[in-house]
Amino acid sequence: MKKRILTGDTPTGKLHLGHYVGTLENRVKLQDQYEMFIILADTHALTTLSATPELIKNYTREVLLDNLSVGLDPKNVTFFIESGVSEIYELAAIFSMYVSHNRALRNPTIKDEISSKSLGDQFSLGFVNYPIYQAADILCVKGQLVPVGVDQEAHLEQAREIARAINKLTNSNIFPEPEALIGRVGKLVGTDGNPKMGKSLNNTIYLSDSTEEVEKRVMNMFTDPKRIHPTDPGTIAGNPVFTYLDSFAKEKDKGKIDEYKDRYEKGEVGDVEVKKYLAQVLNNFLNPIRERRLEYESQPEVLDKILVEGTAKTKKVASETLSEVRSEMGLI
Ligand code: ATP
Ligand code: MG
Repeated sequence: MKKRILTGDTPTGKLHLGHYVGTLENRVKLQDQYEMFIILADTHALTTLSATPELIKNYTREVLLDNLSVGLDPKNVTFFIESGVSEIYELAAIFSMYVSHNRALRNPTIKDEISSKSLGDQFSLGFVNYPIYQAADILCVKGQLVPVGVDQEAHLEQAREIARAINKLTNSNIFPEPEALIGRVGKLVGTDGNPKMGKSLNNTIYLSDSTEEVEKRVMNMFTDPKRIHPTDPGTIAGNPVFTYLDSFAKEKDKGKIDEYKDRYEKGEVGDVEVKKYLAQVLNNFLNPIRERRLEYESQPEVLDKILVEGTAKTKKVASETLSEVRSEMGLI
């Protein structure tokens, strides 16, 4: 039997290059080898203060399109909507009995998000609880491997603790201990030099951006702030233009990139020339993704079918897991 993967996205915005190197790429690579479930975590999106019902509905569809356009095959992969699998809420309620209040607040990613998203004290109980819901997302299908960006490692640790607690309590092996699989670039820098390209930070290049949008975003990118003239020696390390070149160029272009790096460090090439090249590289990378997207966009009934069938299938698996948990825990 194939091992199971559970992974997914919050429909709070369209997916971008960071999502690609952090997780989408691994999804595509592993889709034949594993039985794969991909969640569109719409309930989880409610923890984002700016997410209105209309936006969540719209982005749920956009995020499905993003996943399909990078080459995930709906014949291999089960896509489901979180709110369509209410067993997740029931499992999360049970799990929450075994997570101390302190432990929930000690989660480093929760702490980071409170500060990076400037939430102050305006975050909900659901926000602090979301790693517990995420554990239920993963464990309702007994997911063993979870391809994610590095910010999710802390949540996976919490999910493993929960799985262990329930297994110990029931003296059983109901749950696997899910492992994170971090992408080739665990946290891709934003176009503004912020360490994380993020949906809410306006520092993104979206997988669905047009050629012109990509050119514009690249031309406005942050580079080496100390460099004023093209003849000034430039810095490569931490310069997002070169990080993106390294991350998205084809193997055959590596020689040319090394040449640009050398000239940049010596002050023999201007930012504009390197940026023009980067825009070309990114557009070459995005072209096949754009083509697949166009195909799916013209078939809304196919998208509906993928979601309806995937959610029904996941609900069945989750209800079997929940029955097992209830029975082992004496919840009649
Ligand atoms: P939000 O701020 O709403 O949480 P997000 O950009 O973190 O948005 P998610 O839907 O939470 O997006 O994340 C989906 C997946 O993409 C996760 O596995 C996450 O770790 C990964 N990811 C998100 N941003 C990046 C990035 N800049 N680099 C690498 N991986 C990323
Ligand atoms: Mg996130």
